[in-house]
Amino acid sequence: MSGIYDVIIIGGGPAGLAAGLYASRSRLKTLILEKEKMGGQIVTTDEVANYPGSIENASGPSLIKRMVEQAEEFGAEMKIDEIKEVDLEGKIKVLKGSNGEYKAKAVIIATGAQPRKIGCPGEAEFTGRGVSYCATCDAAFFEDMEVFVVGGGDTAVEEGMYLTKFARKVTIIHRRDELRAAKSIQEKAFANEKMHFMWDSVVKEIKGDGIVESMVVENVKTGELTEIVANEEDGTFGIFVFIGFLPNTELFEGIIDMENGYIVTDQDMKTNIPGVFAAGDVRAKSLRQVVTATGDGAIAAIQAEKYIEENFDE
Ligand code: NAP
Repeated sequence: MSGIYDVIIIGGGPAGLAAGLYASRSRLKTLILEKEKMGGQIVTTDEVANYPGSIENASGPSLIKRMVEQAEEFGAEMKIDEIKEVDLEGKIKVLKGSNGEYKAKAVIIATGAQPRKIGCPGEAEFTGRGVSYCATCDAAFFEDMEVFVVGGGDTAVEEGMYLTKFARKVTIIHRRDELRAAKSIQEKAFANEKMHFMWDSVVKEIKGDGIVESMVVENVKTGELTEIVANEEDGTFGIFVFIGFLPNTELFEGIIDMENGYIVTDQDMKTNIPGVFAAGDVRAKSLRQVVTATGDGAIAAIQAEKYIEENFDE
């Protein structure tokens, strides 16, 4: 079956790279397909302090660089291509990308998730210049400054409280007049004197010159627009957006079983389709971290190997 891979992994983040390492180390003919750049969400992280063993110089990019090298050393092939269509039902799985067609005996989906965006003018332009989707990554830039957190769920409120360790004032901007976050989390937030709340409000525009300098907020009940301008001494403020995550699963809608858009697997990373596995943030699961993504990747690869052994003669 020349030209057919044993395993194709879709997605080159920590889950995909770990799957690639384990699959190629098991001597499977392995291809990792990534649509943009190896690394996934973690490459936007300056410090990875909670991945076991990452102590010195453990930035997201340096960790990914080592993961890529390690998978390549064991023989995993890597290609940049965006998969547009999949045919997963047959014994041989077919993936159609912008640059070609790929075939494999088993597929591991590790396409990850991405933070939901506000979608207002200026958001993309000022990402990394005041707009952030990761408090642990960027909180230190706002030491003793003012920050705003958009969202009202558990993540927004918990990350807001984390930001109070750095910022002098944290204001939660929420589109309703009641938080979605669990009551126990709310109670802690209301008791924290650095936390403030702007209710019934949505961010309409983010402005600045190179960095965030102001933003326009609309009161959804009155329609009133307010421009929040950076304190003159600070010159800027932070906008941390936590309005949920979107799994990258569009390609598999109607094909693979999902729960709230996330792919459902069993503990062996098996989806409802034989020979198709999922790993990392794209799965329905309780903790989305590098450490859980790499664990998923390893399990998926070993299970893919077992599946191939049981279902293919050569
Ligand atoms: P979430 O629960 O879906 O909350 C998203 C928040 O963003 C909601 O308050 C929502 O407003 C708001 N929102 C959504 N789209 C918006 C938009 N376009 N513009 C403005 N606001 C928008 O997401 P999450 O907080 O990331 O939590 C995800 C899951 O992880 C939840 O199940 C959560 O319980 C869990 N989690 C648990 C913990 C914990 O237990 N310690 C910590 C973090 C996360 P509305 O309220 O008006 O819908």
